[in-house]
Amino acid sequence: MTYNKEEVKELLELEDIYNLFDYFNAEPQMYSSYIVAKTICHNGDTHKLYYYENTQLCKCYTGSCGSFDIFELVRKIEPDLDLNKAIYFVVNFFNLQSKLEDVDADEYSIEDFKIFKNYNKLHEIEIKNDKVRLPQIPNYIEHYPCPRILNWEKEGISYDVSKFMNIRYNPVNGSILIPHCDIDNRLVGIRQRTLVKEDEIFGKYRPARFQNQLCNHPLAFNLYGLNIAKDNICNLRTVIVVESEKSVLQYISYFGTKNDICVAVCGSSLSKYQFHLLLDLGIQELVIGFDKDFEQFEGEDFEKVTNKLQKIYDKYSCYVNVTFLFDNKEDNILGYKDSPLDKGKDVFLHLWRNRIIL
Ligand SMILES: [Zn+2]
Repeated sequence: MTYNKEEVKELLELEDIYNLFDYFNAEPQMYSSYIVAKTICHNGDTHKLYYYENTQLCKCYTGSCGSFDIFELVRKIEPDLDLNKAIYFVVNFFNLQSKLEDVDADEYSIEDFKIFKNYNKLHEIEIKNDKVRLPQIPNYIEHYPCPRILNWEKEGISYDVSKFMNIRYNPVNGSILIPHCDIDNRLVGIRQRTLVKEDEIFGKYRPARFQNQLCNHPLAFNLYGLNIAKDNICNLRTVIVVESEKSVLQYISYFGTKNDICVAVCGSSLSKYQFHLLLDLGIQELVIGFDKDFEQFEGEDFEKVTNKLQKIYDKYSCYVNVTFLFDNKEDNILGYKDSPLDKGKDVFLHLWRNRIIL
């Protein structure tokens, strides 16, 4: 499996680089167009590693490493990886698959997953029968408070559902803590979402750190909400795939866990691995409910979104029926960047009844 390095770089925002640095414990600090971090490039501990947005290059100011791109940085940290594997690591870390041309569209190979196994020296990732078993992490957040989150309630997420999904709040940095379980209900990651507006420059979602352990997981190898929805998905042979955790929480708030068939990719693409998790449950219909990332029903943004959906269709329609929850020009019932669940139950049901079959 090979990706074009320049294409991958195109897709990486400054905030992604920040998250990657954070993942490697580089204690990054973000400024408007650059990042300063610990010199993890040569195992140093001064903050002299810079990343510049305009050149997309890292520069180590200790005189030992010079300039290099983000994939070279990954290789400096993990010398066992060749360039392709370093790229593959980054693609999976940010779940960028569907935004990229698959140079090699063959079935994924188990060899590819071993990268994560190599990388994760602290805890083992198990690979068994083509399945990745992410390491279980301790429940660092069970004693954090579980207050009512009024902003979320306004957006249709009920307090009962927040409690049921074990959503917590970190009063120290004003963020919501979202535990992620795998299909077997094992806790594999914790993501935090800031409620503080100024912090949004650092990304709405950031991996959480507890007792100095970073609690993120490779997003492309899991689906948020699958542990709750799996039996219904099996029975109905249908799944609704959305982008964010919030949409799953809204779905459960509107329709209850008994009717829940909604899972989130936690990115803006469905990885092959995620698709196979669903296919193994016997799905016959895959309903894509991604965000409305365009303002007008024409132009560049609109094309981008429709191309992306077309790609998902091309990739998976030979296995299952692929349908789309998609606003149209006549209705125009979703706002810019809204998910199909953001405007309430009735709007969602309208989109559901009128879902698009290509
Ligand atoms: Zn260095």
